[in-house]
Amino acid sequence: RNNAEKFEFQAEVSRLMDIIINSLYSNKDIFLRELISNASDALDKIRFLSLTDKEVLGEGDTSKLDIQIKLDKEKKILSLRDRGIGMTKEDLIKNLGTIAKSGTSAFVEKMQSSGDLNLIGQFGVGFYSVYLVADYVEVISKHNDDKQYVWESKADGAFAISEDTWNEPLGRGTEIRLHLRDEAQEYLEESKLKELVKKYSEFINFPIYIWASKEVDVEVPADEDESSDEEETSDSGSSEEGEDEDAEKSEDDDAEKKSKTKKVKETTYEWELLNDVKAIWLRSPKEVTDEEYAKLYHSLAKDFSDEKPLAWSHFTAEGDVEFKAVLFVPPKASQDLYESYYNTNKANLKLYVRRVFISDEFDELLPKYLSFLKGLVDSDTLPLNVSREMLQAHSSLKTIKKKLIRKALDMIRKIAEEDPDESSGKDEKEVETSGDDDEKKGQYTKFWNEFGKSIKLGIIEDATNRNRLAKLLRFESTKSDGKLTSLDQYISRMKSGQKDIFYITGTSKEQLEKSPFLERLKKKNYEVIFFTDPVDEYLMQYLMDYEGKQFQNVSKEGLKIGKEKNKELKESFKELTKWWKNALASDNVDEVKISNRLDNTPCVVVTSKYGWSANMERIMQSQTL
Ligand code: ADP
Ligand code: MG
Repeated sequence: RNNAEKFEFQAEVSRLMDIIINSLYSNKDIFLRELISNASDALDKIRFLSLTDKEVLGEGDTSKLDIQIKLDKEKKILSLRDRGIGMTKEDLIKNLGTIAKSGTSAFVEKMQSSGDLNLIGQFGVGFYSVYLVADYVEVISKHNDDKQYVWESKADGAFAISEDTWNEPLGRGTEIRLHLRDEAQEYLEESKLKELVKKYSEFINFPIYIWASKEVDVEVPADEDESSDEEETSDSGSSEEGEDEDAEKSEDDDAEKKSKTKKVKETTYEWELLNDVKAIWLRSPKEVTDEEYAKLYHSLAKDFSDEKPLAWSHFTAEGDVEFKAVLFVPPKASQDLYESYYNTNKANLKLYVRRVFISDEFDELLPKYLSFLKGLVDSDTLPLNVSREMLQAHSSLKTIKKKLIRKALDMIRKIAEEDPDESSGKDEKEVETSGDDDEKKGQYTKFWNEFGKSIKLGIIEDATNRNRLAKLLRFESTKSDGKLTSLDQYISRMKSGQKDIFYITGTSKEQLEKSPFLERLKKKNYEVIFFTDPVDEYLMQYLMDYEGKQFQNVSKEGLKIGKEKNKELKESFKELTKWWKNALASDNVDEVKISNRLDNTPCVVVTSKYGWSANMERIMQSQTL
């Protein structure tokens, strides 16, 4: 086109597009859910703006917040239109030509090596998936602040933008036209698209329509039946008009030449609604199936692997602050969950106020250590028409947060309670055997392996819920037989007269098992917990006691095993310990003492009660070097 301005894609975008185009990926379907998800985001944005300024919605059809899909079999075009916020010329250049996110290169690399295009939506580059099925794409967009523009690209490293002087005005919003490749003609089938919308986009909160054909019987005059069929199949105009015409025509026919008519099949078109817009979280949990929850999870997490969430909790909070929420434990921790734990605010809850999407960037809803959860909150109490900043400071948020934490921890506790593997050590009778035992089996270990670190971080960060979190803690010990065990189980195995919970920290279980610190404890049949994660050292600075029992690091001074008396020994070895203390440079050791912690090993170096453990020294050293 003459007036088109040419642009080059950012290098990473070009590479990404190459990967997509050359992908042999079988699941090309994902492009549709990415487009619908973008349309839905754009609709959320305009609806949010309209809360404070009704004018932005415009009038007539422009104000309708919906998504429309149309198929043009002749031209092989699939188009998707929304009346969302639209894009200005600037937006088109920026949003559909560059990726501003950090880690883009690494991401593109990873996509190339893994070939997993499912990552595309999660990283926020879903738009480019259109090139899985199209070789030429037009994006027509109208934003309230700008004229209507067309963005177009054949994925050849460049795109062009022109002021739109030839298409029908959109009013507001975006229409995406995919010129489908020869191998992707299946996406011109209505049935295929209906199936995909059902599969991927059921929980989009805006109506999704398809311009669907319908066979109807009409009566036509018996003598002029040659061309009527063709005329009626043209898809111009809306269905209502079409039907009205038919109705008029047949009335006329009836009246004038009743005897000379016959029935023929005729194709008409109308907008067919494909989704149920009633938000799933408004329904009673009893009416929602497991499959529906799984689908809701997948659409929230943009994770479309076949894995189901590990657990979910759907509840209504009543009282001063009313809200509904659904929380999910994902089947896997996201790659960067702990990598960027302290430098990013990753809120994973969507906040709605009375069904209107407000934000997914609220980090006040959940504490950091629970940021691995996905879900949504729909509040009836929060005010609708205030700015995000003001909402952020609203006092109700504190109450919501408190309740969400409680529910989240309950949900996690239930994973353990329902896991038959977890009941070892419990009374046999307590173990229920139900049909879905198999499904629940090993789920808590799975949870622990993915998110155990978050629980530990929680113990460090959240004093209020420390005890609840400690209950969720799992570890190996001298008696756990290679399996994970809990503090409750440890306590149930404590010897009579044992006061403290014994633990030792180090780099690995293998190393710790050989430790001289354990000799005597083992011999006397005391259980000792192995803490081998670097975070455990910090953890144990915060976890002082559990169920009235103190924690005792067995490599530190002050270890008391049972009620042994060593006063006499101390006395009779006084000379030796004195000599020893003097023999060693005095600033190397604090004290030389008689100990009952050893069995075969003659002596051992322990750290003072209040100082760092040797393992902590090691960790600190590795951090400063
Ligand atoms: P993401 O949706 O995760 O941001 P995408 O690659 O899917 O990543 O889209 C890139 C950006 O393009 C979006 O963030 C949005 O700003 C813009 N965009 C895409 N589709 C639309 C649309 N239908 N209406 C308005 N803006 C859109
Ligand atoms: Mg997107």
